[in-house]
Amino acid sequence: MIAYIEPYFLDNDAEASAVAGISSSDGVSDIQGTIICGGAAADIAGKDFGGMNFVKPLAVVRPVGPEDIAGVVKAALRSEKLTVAARGNGHSINGQAMSEGGLVVDMSSTAENHFEVGFCSGDGTAFVDVSGGALWENVLKRCVLEYGLAPRSWTDYLGLTVGGTLSNAGVSGQTFRYGPQTSNVTELEVVTGNGDVVTCSEIENSELFYSVLGGLGQFGIITRARVLLQPAPDMVRWIRVVYTEFDEFTRDAEWLVSQKDESSSFDYVEGFVFVNGDDPVNGWPSIPLHPDHDFDPTRLPQSSGSVLYCLELGLHYMNSDSNSTVDKRVDKLIGRLRFVDGLRFEIDLSYVDFILRVKRSEEIAKVNGTWETPHPWLNLFVSKRDIADFDRTVFKELVKNGVGGPMLVYPLLRSRWDDRTSVAIPEGEIFYLVALLRFVPRCAKASSVEKLVVQNQEIVQWCVKNGIDFKLYLPHYKSPEEWIRHFGNRWSRFVDRKTMFDPMAILSPGQKIFNRSS
Ligand code: FAD
Repeated sequence: MIAYIEPYFLDNDAEASAVAGISSSDGVSDIQGTIICGGAAADIAGKDFGGMNFVKPLAVVRPVGPEDIAGVVKAALRSEKLTVAARGNGHSINGQAMSEGGLVVDMSSTAENHFEVGFCSGDGTAFVDVSGGALWENVLKRCVLEYGLAPRSWTDYLGLTVGGTLSNAGVSGQTFRYGPQTSNVTELEVVTGNGDVVTCSEIENSELFYSVLGGLGQFGIITRARVLLQPAPDMVRWIRVVYTEFDEFTRDAEWLVSQKDESSSFDYVEGFVFVNGDDPVNGWPSIPLHPDHDFDPTRLPQSSGSVLYCLELGLHYMNSDSNSTVDKRVDKLIGRLRFVDGLRFEIDLSYVDFILRVKRSEEIAKVNGTWETPHPWLNLFVSKRDIADFDRTVFKELVKNGVGGPMLVYPLLRSRWDDRTSVAIPEGEIFYLVALLRFVPRCAKASSVEKLVVQNQEIVQWCVKNGIDFKLYLPHYKSPEEWIRHFGNRWSRFVDRKTMFDPMAILSPGQKIFNRSS
């Protein structure tokens, strides 16, 4: 079957022949899926969640399966300069899933290709084979509703694809225990930059397996992932407690994530910074978990500063557990924590609702228009060694009035990350995820968004200048020197892997790490 080519409004003959190259039926590049060109392609893949980059791809391909994707890569290899970007759900901030004048593979068309639960032959651990283009939200629902099972490691928000988060890391409040999502897959099917469809794992084609995990889309396009599962709990007790002092907040958070025995800690540990004031978005009202709960600021000591800290916790339980059993477990754990008396909020909700908790924020942001406006987000990993300095300079000064959205800060353990993957993380055993999730109002001017971008750059520059042990998460750099610094002593391995699996630098050009070879 020959590809179905949609609105064919191409600017010139060169573009027309390049698209003809992917759709020709010469036995190599015959695409079974759909090819979309012109303005319709730009509508689909010309922008992303960040809303600060706009490009015009040559075409968007909606593949049927890995053979189509291999066909696209081979067509690009035959061309002089075409590149190929896999697009998950386009939730990048800085154009990472874009390809200016190139081909974009819209992975959503493959979302339903795989869904099969199985058990590891050794220890019987359950897993699910899912598509790289599947949304985590759908993986969650099917695993829990059909099998009573669930992936162990999540992101906060689930409108993201399996391939997209595995190309970065995938972190949330379970990462301290199970590692990032990249530590919770045992096998991948990948289309490499050579146009080969390869199955890889720790023992089979292991170099490709570890390259692709956290590989920023540079080494291959993930078409299937084998994700480890655990029995899903029925319910979660979701708790927030407030601190005025950063050192008390970090001491408790680090204590919770460092417990060896699972029953000595919560199942989910995150934290965030918020403004010590009544601002509805950035301040006290953002903390209570239920409309009936009030934040009583008279509980705060006089000495409290410009910002406060909140530890966010989750405890799993089953419907068969009595209320008093759950209360006892919570009280035992929470009794050790030194939060402000009277500033504790909690609700019980189903596990699925808990894992999907950010969907509510998405709905609200869509109503008030801030889902569509630009999102100049900054995500970093900052070593425990430097997090107090970071707090003093960034949280207490630079962003003390808030960012219009969450400011996350919570500890992770290096030992739960696999050094063989491509992700770059700081040196120390404990490091913090820091996320400034900026939302700007609908009426904001371009210049005010630019100011936020500049502030992000200032924060990164401050980290560099002060020798902070940090790495950007979901990194975005403009110069080769910055990429070299980002990867540090792993840069040469990253380059070697590129030479092995994508020697012509076809893949993920939006990351701006390598230039397409001709
Ligand atoms: P895209 O943005 O489409 O792609 C990201 C990169 O991966 C691109 O370079 C692309 O070419 C490449 N890529 C996409 N699919 C594949 C594939 N199948 N194979 C190989 N490469 C591929 N991250 C967290 O870790 N934790 C969070 O809690 C979290 N919350 C978020 C909440 C929101 C509202 C948003 C917008 C983002 C959040 N993220 C979080 C960041 C998220 O992990 C990244 O945006 C990530 O890129 C996934 O998004 P995506 O699936 O849309 O991928």
